[in-house]
Amino acid sequence: MKALVYTQPEEMTFRDEPDPEPAADEVLIKVEAAGICGSDMHAYHGHDERRIPPLILGHEAAGTIVSGPGTGRRVVVNPLMTCGQCDYCLGGRSNLCRSRQIIGMTPREGAFAEYLRMPERNLVTLPEGMDPVHASVTEPVATSLHTIHLAARAVYRPLAELRSLVIGAGAVGLAAALILRHQGCTDLSIGDTNDLRRKTAERAGVGAVYDPRRETLEDASFDLVIDAVGGEVTRKVAVEAVKPGGVVMHIGLMDSAGGLDIRKITLQEVTFIGTYTYTMVDFRATVAMLNSGALGSLDWIEQRPLAEGGAAFQDIDRGSTPAAKIVLSP
Ligand SMILES: [Zn+2]
Ligand SMILES: [Zn+2]
Repeated sequence: MKALVYTQPEEMTFRDEPDPEPAADEVLIKVEAAGICGSDMHAYHGHDERRIPPLILGHEAAGTIVSGPGTGRRVVVNPLMTCGQCDYCLGGRSNLCRSRQIIGMTPREGAFAEYLRMPERNLVTLPEGMDPVHASVTEPVATSLHTIHLAARAVYRPLAELRSLVIGAGAVGLAAALILRHQGCTDLSIGDTNDLRRKTAERAGVGAVYDPRRETLEDASFDLVIDAVGGEVTRKVAVEAVKPGGVVMHIGLMDSAGGLDIRKITLQEVTFIGTYTYTMVDFRATVAMLNSGALGSLDWIEQRPLAEGGAAFQDIDRGSTPAAKIVLSP
């Protein structure tokens, strides 16, 4: 099969690879769409010790089962492989599974390929007529939905009443803003340093869009802040922007240290919550939400051929695409 292989830092090679061989509990999927994630970009720069070249990256996929039970079924892939048996899996928090693993991470090949093998229990059937390109953003959007679910438990008022800020207008940040809007939030701001992405966020109509390099936010003025970047600078902004008693949700994985004013967090009872991926419940709810049109037209997704995936990585790296998500199709 053809695949887009991460061969060394800053190098993606479109080449022939052996077809995947499904294990006993797995099926073979013909990939129709696979999105490029921020974590794939992190690997591309050689900054992810969990993704060692040569490796087929990609974990945001939709396609059709072509062998094994359910042949012909159109599915979206939950890429989070969990054991199904540990205390977290059994307790409804499978995203914290003690042996969790994501496809497209060494040693498990990912979805930037014509074919992908997956356990059947990781697949969700697509509603009739759902575009696989739309379905392929289920993974990042489920991350946003999981974040909103956690935030809703930590805030003291209904989400719709909150003054909210989202930092970062990539797919996860933009989807978080779209979900908040869908939940009735009207006092919503979203910031991004990339001009093109800000335009995309403006078009999506999520709220006030601002450029953090030009505008400073009023300190301590937001009930809920979602950091979808997760760098030292954005953590600092998040903690400064949050009101006393407010909630900061930290999703991004840009870097690991700095930016936290622990004194403010303590004295002002700020809740700081780290959040990672989603459960299967979030995942199914996201498919339904995307298909219902609740999050709008999804025109912030750009589809490109898998063979041109290398150029897509370069464009994302240079910030020269307005798309919040580029999806590759074999
Ligand atoms: Zn992802
Ligand atoms: Zn488990």
